[in-house]
Amino acid sequence: MSDTMLAIVKETAGPGLVLREVPVPQAGPGEVKIKILKTAICGTDLHIYNWDAWSERTIRPPMTIGHEFVGEIVELGDGVSAYKTGDIVSGEGHIVCGVCRNCMAGRRHLCPNTRGVGVNRDGCFAEYLVIPATNVVRLAEGIPLEVASCFDPLGNAVHTALKFDLTGEDVLITGAGPIGIMAAAICRHCGAKKIAVTDINPYRLELAKSITPDIFTSDPRETTTSELMRKMNMSEGFDVGLEMSGNESAFADMVEHMSNGGRIALLGIHSGKTIINWDRVVFGGLTITGIYGREMFDTWYKMMSMLQSGLDISKVITHQLNFRDFDQGFAAMNSGTSGKVVLNWA
Ligand code: NAD
Ligand code: ZN
Repeated sequence: MSDTMLAIVKETAGPGLVLREVPVPQAGPGEVKIKILKTAICGTDLHIYNWDAWSERTIRPPMTIGHEFVGEIVELGDGVSAYKTGDIVSGEGHIVCGVCRNCMAGRRHLCPNTRGVGVNRDGCFAEYLVIPATNVVRLAEGIPLEVASCFDPLGNAVHTALKFDLTGEDVLITGAGPIGIMAAAICRHCGAKKIAVTDINPYRLELAKSITPDIFTSDPRETTTSELMRKMNMSEGFDVGLEMSGNESAFADMVEHMSNGGRIALLGIHSGKTIINWDRVVFGGLTITGIYGREMFDTWYKMMSMLQSGLDISKVITHQLNFRDFDQGFAAMNSGTSGKVVLNWA
């Protein structure tokens, strides 16, 4: 085996990414080496590609980026017995410390020492990836590889959607990015009553509806949420809110349109400038909870179980490209007329 491989690298602090030969990583004790088959591009990767203020603060070039993947185990580090070479796996991109209070209590998604694959260390946009065996998840039977390459964001959607009971509840999802679109499909799968999805991007509302046909979609610039509720024949407000836009006015508006006792799961990342009507929160008895990443590994179990029992999110993948054409993939993401973009490495 050659000791170099191709990888998509942030070489210098600035916009863009380049394809480079880099050393193949070796599996140390407790780690596995994975031959990458497919990867998906995340919004985070787009931030790194475009080089925004967050990237400037966070990313230390040169490094290989990417954290959404599926691949085949080709090497086991010392002490790894739970896996064998040939296993098809995806994996959790949050590497936790294992010894803090939350980790010790089984709440690994809340570890304060989390390091991100492809953010704080080399990532998966490469021919090989090495991660701890404790981060690996074996792919359940019958799940297509391209869907498995999207487990990370699908896991965000599952974690957020399942935070509160959905059965028979009216749900408002703000933001029809890939995660909001997948969340709508999950809500339907789990027996929600009426589901509304809002976005300012008509392409994405259309995509959401093509995957979950009986949802109500609307553009908040054209239809107010009160008008939307009237169309849905609702009067008291939404029972569950899934904030997946990261947009201040979408979140503030959601708070205004929850039923008393309503529950909001907040995945979207906000700038901190959002002004909330706290009277609605206090007198309406609202619950608002933040969601980070995926529960390790209950979210992964639920995600694969739902896919095996009829949840189908495959149509959220709008582009499949060879990894050498990654620039095209990022252009599609920047254009707004895309769902998930998958890169093939095999
Ligand atoms: P995305 O950027 O692709 O989607 C966000 C969508 O919100 C876009 O389609 C955009 O048009 C829409 N939007 C903008 N303004 C709106 C408004 N006023 N009302 C309704 N929709 C509006 O992002 P994504 O990859 O689907 O992720 C969703 C959100 O979750 C993002 O904010 C992302 O940063 C965040 N995120 C959080 C975590 C976490 O662990 N907490 C993990 C992944 C993503
Ligand atoms: Zn920890």
